Amino acid sequence: MSQFWSGIVHELTPYVPGEQPKVQDLIKLNTNENPYGPSPKVIAAITAEATDALRLYPDPNSERLKTVIADYHGLSAAQVFVGNGSDEVLAHVFQALLKHSRPLLFPDITYSFYPVYCGLYGIEYEAIPLDRHFEINIHNYDRPNGGIIFPNPNAPTGIPLELDKIEALLQKNRYSVVVVDEAYVDFGTESAVRLINTYPNLLVTQTLSKARSLAGLRLGFALGHPDLIEALTRVKDSFNSYPVDRLAEAGAIAAMQDVDYFEAMREKVIAARDSLVKKMEAIGFVILPSGANFILAKHPSIDGETLAQKLREQRIIVRHFKKPKRIAPFVRITIGTELEMAQLLKAFTFIVST
Ligand SMILES: *Cc1c(COP(=O)(O)O)cnc(C)c1O
Repeated sequence: MSQFWSGIVHELTPYVPGEQPKVQDLIKLNTNENPYGPSPKVIAAITAEATDALRLYPDPNSERLKTVIADYHGLSAAQVFVGNGSDEVLAHVFQALLKHSRPLLFPDITYSFYPVYCGLYGIEYEAIPLDRHFEINIHNYDRPNGGIIFPNPNAPTGIPLELDKIEALLQKNRYSVVVVDEAYVDFGTESAVRLINTYPNLLVTQTLSKARSLAGLRLGFALGHPDLIEALTRVKDSFNSYPVDRLAEAGAIAAMQDVDYFEAMREKVIAARDSLVKKMEAIGFVILPSGANFILAKHPSIDGETLAQKLREQRIIVRHFKKPKRIAPFVRITIGTELEMAQLLKAFTFIVST
């Protein structure tokens, strides 16, 4: 009954998330979730919060959580914005800070939600090609713009951008907001958070979905100058006063405070990644250098789509992107447990030899 639709709905091309399969006993390496569960302290905090108090609305400003995040990063609570996953935070960022007469710039190969938000909010953009090594070349961003956004490390390449290059971008673009989407930063990429007090045009977003194993809880945040945070709060308070529920706030506080658990889990993932890369290279794979909890890999004798399909026959699911064409030869593989990585390697060895 699409005659009932608002005009813009006809024009939307929604984001397509990776598959969440209904069947059991698949090795799921397609959506960059953490293979290890969240800290037991998170589960305890959520359980403790699941009381009669749920009849009451949560704190609309999540002040306790903002303070904990600010303390963790050495900032003030006025420099923190929290939301229902960083996808929601990013949506507000696009609407509040990136819609201007000049185009928004982002890499041509990047998080595919960015062009979707542009469509939703009517933001003009230019996709800037990655160089031939699939890296961001900051000189290509030297053009009039109404903002710049990229993930660091980039997705789905996994390649980090050095902090001095981010700083150069910030210096060259003092009249635009530069957004660094640090969804995967904790897996071995240097964070831009320490530049926040120097550059009022820097906004950093992070999420509890990846390194803190809480994709199911939906908690993301943005860090930046209080004026940038104020813009996000205005949009949020015109959209949903309570994006972070009581259980999510309690769980997120516990997750941010359990630093030991967080450090141990991310180190396990990094070690599993580095070991997998070596073993895959030994059987002929080409892998882009990753500072994330996933790798982008290709094999000279099997195309990406076939590789993904053959893995699926072995009950392993990875992500294949048909577009853009330059990454079609690759598959994106999430780093799992050591056991899962051993099974993956066994499957690859079989596929490559047949
Ligand atoms: C996963 C991801 C996000 C979104 O994470 P949330 O689960 O919504 O917090 C944002 N940016 C990139 C690049 C991601 O991969």
